[in-house]
Amino acid sequence: MTETLSTLLLHGGDGPRTVGTPVSPAPVLSTTYYAHPDAVGFSAEDLKADTPHFYTRWSNPTLELLEKRLALLEGGEAAVSFASGMAAVTGLFALKLQSGDHLVLSDVCYAGVAEYAGQALRRQGVAVSFVDSADPAAVAAAMRPDTRLVHVETPANPILKLTDIAAIAAIAHAGGAELSVDSTIATPVGANPIALGADYVCHSLTKYLCGHGDALGGAVIGRAAAMAELRKQSLIHLGAVLSPFSAYLILRGMETLELRMARHEANARAIAEWLEGHAKVRRVNWPGLASHPQADLARRQMRNFSGLISFSVHGDSAAMARRLADRLGLVSTAVSLGKTKSLCFYIPTDDILRSSFPAADAAQYRDWAGDGVFRVSVGIEDAAAIIADFDQALG
Ligand code: PLP
Repeated sequence: MTETLSTLLLHGGDGPRTVGTPVSPAPVLSTTYYAHPDAVGFSAEDLKADTPHFYTRWSNPTLELLEKRLALLEGGEAAVSFASGMAAVTGLFALKLQSGDHLVLSDVCYAGVAEYAGQALRRQGVAVSFVDSADPAAVAAAMRPDTRLVHVETPANPILKLTDIAAIAAIAHAGGAELSVDSTIATPVGANPIALGADYVCHSLTKYLCGHGDALGGAVIGRAAAMAELRKQSLIHLGAVLSPFSAYLILRGMETLELRMARHEANARAIAEWLEGHAKVRRVNWPGLASHPQADLARRQMRNFSGLISFSVHGDSAAMARRLADRLGLVSTAVSLGKTKSLCFYIPTDDILRSSFPAADAAQYRDWAGDGVFRVSVGIEDAAAIIADFDQALG
């Protein structure tokens, strides 16, 4: 088998092809498996690489297939799947960070991660520095002897600011730390952080990888020994296990990931370029636009610019948010991203700076976001129909 991305999305990690085995494997929903005292122990400490499946909180055939496929797609040794993207990121933080350790975190990233780090991790005695990870010098300046982990999200939700993964990996490693990259928005079609030097890749599988908005999930990909520890701590002990039925839906969605990402990207380009020419639009953020301040980095680091754009408007943003919510028809006013159908949600700058990014450079964030961004997860409908919907709604 030639293991290109297209092929891996369909076949990566497949089991033996024997006569009579299903071409589309059904989800294995059994929580328990025939076992034998010689084959399995009862403690997480007894788990070995070749321990057979015996309880789904340890491992499960459907989860194993998803994990093998994700590891192959990201070029990592192993993967651990989780109940959600948040469980994946916080599971990795819990593995790597203890009281007295220091975390360097992008000042703009998914709000839940920023809030968790700024509140819960600090309560646990972990020091957290929020830095502008788009600026390697700022990351270098934030490194300390006790820095264990640098975590960045690129592109970053919701303003699509990028981080140079190779540059930040070199800085993290020179400081004796590791780098984890949340690559949810890029997907394995758009970027492979491990090839650029990252130690861990995190995904919310809820987004593009599932693609249909009907299953929550998350994953961390990295070296085998670290993934075995992560499984022990986060799944066996903390219980953040992905439902095998959700894993089945995610695997099903992943079969079309490359096709969907091509369409998401083409539609995002058409809509971003149209929005840039609209009189009411102040700024459009999308890594594929020539006007993106990091367009060179985007071209160097990403093979596909994904389907998430954000834009701000001139004048009263809150009034425009109500107007769009009232008038958009095809495009749903809804949170989340990466689904087949187009979604739009307004994120006011004052609110997110106060609740989620208190350490961000407010002037710089406001430059990208204005008084608020309309985050658009561009779907795979007809681009002309999406544009027509925004056209009548923006007025
Ligand atoms: N990472 C990014 C970049 C996200 O956008 C999100 C959710 O929006 C998450 C992580 C969290 O994922 P989940 O909702 O699956 O917990």
